[in-house]
Amino acid sequence: MVTDLAKVFRLGAAKAQENRAFRRYLATHHVPDRPFQLLASEIQRHIDCTACANCCRYSIVPVNGAEIEAIAQYLGAMPEAVICRYTVADSEARSSRILLDASGGCVFLDGNLCTIYPARPRPCRDFPHVAVGTHTLGGRQSSLARWAALCPIIYNALERYKHLIGYHPRPTRPHPEAAA
Ligand code: SF4
Ligand code: SF4
Repeated sequence: MVTDLAKVFRLGAAKAQENRAFRRYLATHHVPDRPFQLLASEIQRHIDCTACANCCRYSIVPVNGAEIEAIAQYLGAMPEAVICRYTVADSEARSSRILLDASGGCVFLDGNLCTIYPARPRPCRDFPHVAVGTHTLGGRQSSLARWAALCPIIYNALERYKHLIGYHPRPTRPHPEAAA
């Protein structure tokens, strides 16, 4: 299993083209996603997310009213203050709010830790969306490919899944960073 973040980035970036081809392969073959989810759940148990936090650095996190209330309660603040101080309008859905992106990622990220962990919104709880019973692999192929370079859970689960289902990618030209 690859857990080193720099290596995951290098390998995931090198496999971007392969993963796009894999996405197309999944779209045209009826491959069950439950084995993928079981693999991902197993891998998740062996990954220390507090050593990574990439999802907190690179995700857009939508928050609904109930989640804003939960954050407010956790912080001992008024919901309006949370909205004003920690969220912005979603540029793709102006009536929705997303967590403010500070310079190093989510506004609630401190180092690699979430400062509102018990009250974090649902998208944070569910990430990387590979647990059994959440999303289907088919519904999240594009983001899985994108996150292969950022999330060790996704990278390792994808590679094991390819092996499990006997997927053999066509040879591609190596990514320049792969040789570094
Ligand atoms: S990107 Fe993946 S491994 Fe990293 S903290 Fe998020 S869920 Fe954990
Ligand atoms: S709310 Fe917490 S878990 Fe969610 S993105 Fe921000 S720091 Fe990460």
